Amino acid sequence: MKKIAILGSTGSIGTQTLEVVENQGDIEVTALAAGSNIRLLEEQIRKFRPKIVCVFEEEKAKELKESVRDLTVRVVSGMEGLIEAAVEETSEIVVTAVVGMIGIRPTIAAMEAGKDIALANKETLVTAGHIIMPLAKKMGVRILPVDSEHSAIFQCLNGENKGSVHKILLTASGGPFRGKTREELKNVKVEDALNHPNWAMGRKITIDSSTMVNKGLEVMEAKWLFGVQMDQVQVVIQPKSIIHSMVEFEDGAVMAQMGTPDMKLPIQYALYYPERRYLKGDRLDFWSIGQINFEKPDLVNFPGLKLAYEAGCAGGTLPTVFNAANEKAVAKFLNREITYLTITDMIEGAMNGHTVKENPTVEEILDAEAAAYEYIESRW
Ligand code: NDP
Ligand code: MG
Repeated sequence: MKKIAILGSTGSIGTQTLEVVENQGDIEVTALAAGSNIRLLEEQIRKFRPKIVCVFEEEKAKELKESVRDLTVRVVSGMEGLIEAAVEETSEIVVTAVVGMIGIRPTIAAMEAGKDIALANKETLVTAGHIIMPLAKKMGVRILPVDSEHSAIFQCLNGENKGSVHKILLTASGGPFRGKTREELKNVKVEDALNHPNWAMGRKITIDSSTMVNKGLEVMEAKWLFGVQMDQVQVVIQPKSIIHSMVEFEDGAVMAQMGTPDMKLPIQYALYYPERRYLKGDRLDFWSIGQINFEKPDLVNFPGLKLAYEAGCAGGTLPTVFNAANEKAVAKFLNREITYLTITDMIEGAMNGHTVKENPTVEEILDAEAAAYEYIESRW
């Protein structure tokens, strides 16, 4: 039995990971963690019988502890608890499916404990890639991408020489507002932005997809995962999300990975790599697809992507500021405190007000995060 821990088990990626576990039947779940959703966590505990469970919110952890008293599971809380769940001694792979920079410390702890990482939590790599990638090398652990584009690239690179990559072609659907101008985006409501044309995902990433900030984060994620420069990652709009990404090699050959928009495929691939297993679900039907179209990304009406390139090229603490300002802004937008276009205005403002620190430590990354939050609270 393969043994895995899932951080963020109640979310979109977390629940789909558990679906894969259930479908395959030969994976043991050793640890689970979530923020506060103890109702779903209890169901998961009763079904998958993990040894340890972390609920980040202390009060909720106490409540859960009471309701699972009949079981032997250990319930912990807070960052300490999250780290304990990440390093549970028997697990081989830790699926990092929490949302946001909260993922940095447990990911590092899991790697230091020798675990492979099935990485969904892109914010960790974007802000701390310069710590994560060398650490993976030092510890001899693998970072297996779960993000569909990065899984696609990973699949295209199978058996290839890393040095022969000319360019990474990161595909994007363009989100629900593709083709719209800033004028037309002025009055976008939360409900409109949560309505992604192809993928069903968590709320934060769905908003990020609509602003193209998600694609910006993914460019930086690709830079770290595949050891390329920012200008070697080119975003290609492909509205139907059939091609999940491509790699262009030195000789001009382009490899693409295609599939239906189902996150279970990249999740399962990361858990069983290099093995492929049967996956129930829709298959691509090329007769009904008919055509696949490509467009250039619109950096004028969707400045989030342009700002991400700036952040990724500058490096240091700037990607953290880009990400933290976005996390704060998206939370405010979802809370109906700011308008849609203010999201990218906030990111730009926070980036302009920041002095970049090169090669930051985890503490310096978290300081830069706090400073970006503060900046936004004081200005908006
Ligand atoms: P969701 O919002 O659906 O789920 C987030 C998960 O994180 C929940 O289990 C939540 O618990 C948990 N969580 C939140 N805060 C904490 C905390 N402080 N401590 C412990 N757990 C916490 O997000 P997604 O599943 O959509 O995304 C997760 C990550 O995967 C993100 O980084 C995203 O960018 C990435 N990703 C997601 C894709 C998708 O299809 N959804 C695709 C590619 C990447 P609770 O439910 O209790 O709040
Ligand atoms: Mg993606």
